[in-house]
Amino acid sequence: MHDGASGETVAQDVGEAVSEIRRDLAAAYQLIALEGMDDGIYTHISARLPDGPGGEKRFLLNPFGLRFDEVTAANLVTIDETGAVIDDPYGAGVNAAGFTIHSAVHMARHDAACVLHTHTVAGVAISSIKEGLLPLNQWSAQFYDRIAFHDYEGIALNLEERERIVADLGTKQVMLLRNHGTLLLGRSVAEAVKLAINLERSCKAQVAALGMGLTPVVLPHDVAEHTASQYQKAYDSFEIGGKPDPEWAAELRRLDACAPGYRG
Ligand SMILES: [Zn+2]
Repeated sequence: MHDGASGETVAQDVGEAVSEIRRDLAAAYQLIALEGMDDGIYTHISARLPDGPGGEKRFLLNPFGLRFDEVTAANLVTIDETGAVIDDPYGAGVNAAGFTIHSAVHMARHDAACVLHTHTVAGVAISSIKEGLLPLNQWSAQFYDRIAFHDYEGIALNLEERERIVADLGTKQVMLLRNHGTLLLGRSVAEAVKLAINLERSCKAQVAALGMGLTPVVLPHDVAEHTASQYQKAYDSFEIGGKPDPEWAAELRRLDACAPGYRG
């Protein structure tokens, strides 16, 4: 039974959840820019919003043409699963074509609160070698045996390739798009950003280690798998266990100190 008070409480809870997602997604754009992981106005980070009153799917995306460091909680655009605009405070629309991969992943993977795609030099480099990411250090061990691959077919805009991307992704959270970049799924925006930053560091470290021309020490299977499960447990404690995430809080403080406008 719903009385007026409980209805208002539900609306208030949804409103707070939406505000938090907007803040976190704006922070994600800013942090990816701060880490030098953006690529002009290309690539996207999308976040799923609670369903609309009629059960309609809704997502947030950056306004078309803005740099990542210009994205704020207030100018994010609300769209449906086709990329059609529902709410656009900034008025520049979205890159609907760029949302096509995100949309396919969001519709197939309801566990993904956030889909984050990057083109970074290190990520593209590792995506371009047959061996992919090796378990060479603690950062990369967390991804051991947890990375999906999708072969390059050209700029991914057509429906058939979207289906192959979703099939190649399977149940994984991390995918190397061969000769192209990376794709991360987070059960929260925070998780997607943390995975992206850790993957970037892993890729940079591999490029550096292999670039020395000396003999790399590749972690043995058991150690790499053990380390990956330790990381998984820590990620689960925030996403499933409800533990407050001090790392994300620290990242928000980093932005509050250097780019406080993201909240506006
Ligand atoms: Zn791309």
